[in-house]
Amino acid sequence: MTFEAVDRYVAPTQLRQALALLAQPGGATVLAGGTDLMPQAQAGRLKPARTLLNIRRIAELDGVRLDEGSERNPAHGPAPALVLGALVTMTRLRRDPLVRAHAPLLAEAAEHFASEQIRNTATLGGNLCNASPAGDTLTPLLALDAEVELVRLADDGTVLARRLPIGAFFTGPGRAARGADELLGAVRVPVAAPGAVIRIAVGTGTGTGTVWRFHKGGTRPALDISPIAIALVAARGADGLLGGVRIALGAVAPTPMRAQRAEALLEGRRLDAGLAAAAAEAAAAECRPIDDVRASAWYRRELVRNMLQRMLDDVAQA
Ligand SMILES: Cc1cc2nc3c(=O)[nH]c(=O)nc-3n(C[C@H](O)[C@H](O)[C@H](O)COP(=O)(O)OP(=O)(O)OC[C@H]3O[C@@H](n4cnc5c(N)ncnc54)[C@H](O)[C@@H]3O)c2cc1C
Repeated sequence: MTFEAVDRYVAPTQLRQALALLAQPGGATVLAGGTDLMPQAQAGRLKPARTLLNIRRIAELDGVRLDEGSERNPAHGPAPALVLGALVTMTRLRRDPLVRAHAPLLAEAAEHFASEQIRNTATLGGNLCNASPAGDTLTPLLALDAEVELVRLADDGTVLARRLPIGAFFTGPGRAARGADELLGAVRVPVAAPGAVIRIAVGTGTGTGTVWRFHKGGTRPALDISPIAIALVAARGADGLLGGVRIALGAVAPTPMRAQRAEALLEGRRLDAGLAAAAAEAAAAECRPIDDVRASAWYRRELVRNMLQRMLDDVAQA
């Protein structure tokens, strides 16, 4: 199956028009950068709808901005967040000053993504909606506690948005909790309110404040599908104790997963070699890898154990 079955190509500039097309009987196949869609269609792994909907010209789905929230106290309004439009490319994630300041983990993941040509085209929304457990932006966003914003058209023609924690968005390999009439509109990465004690992913990743690390396994620094990926975020106080520890693992389960047992071991503790080894052991035990063409389950577990230990040792020494 290729795109021969497609008899209508539409490239609207308004979000509302795109959502109306998605809501029509038979729906539409969404095209963003096409770097997953085109190879999948060529390989016969995708049965496209008769309408091909190119969302690339919709400015409302693009851009990076800081939403400072309506209140300093998140309980009284939306929490401050870095808002990334679905059409933001890997090149933009890599270079954007707001991303580099508030979510350097994500900029780092984009750095190791594919090649220059693919990074210029591949979008964040496409990476998430493709829902590969090896997708490079998934683990950083899970570690950063991000939310996805899904949009659809209501019966009265207004655009309705709903938010989901990113962990709830992925339901299996290649599957996501997106309705056929919905588009992924944006991703919200929490950032600390002014004056808050813990700052999320701000800083150099060393010393006190926020520490963050990203590891993408593979034999090459780029253009490789990761056999495993690990993203780590934590706050470290002046007393050296870790707090808000979040470790996300990619390509070792049907969906990206948090290594909760490893996180619990590290929470409130000062890192040393013994603790790093114990946490790495816990993460290796709790992941659920499979054997496939890229790596065996055994090798993936070994990678998780060794790479997480290396990352934690590095944090301990920083
Ligand atoms: C040579 C090569 C190297 C690659 N290397 C990497 C890599 O290193 N790391 C990695 O993670 N991936 C890699 N990929 C995969 C791919 O580039 C990424 O997953 C990319 O982010 C997909 O984005 P896209 O805009 O091209 O999505 P598309 O191909 O346009 O779409 C992907 C899927 O998402 C849907 N979709 C897209 N946007 C939306 C939206 N806003 N709302 C709802 N549905 C949507 C589409 O319908 C489709 O099902 C590589 C691909 C190639 C061809």
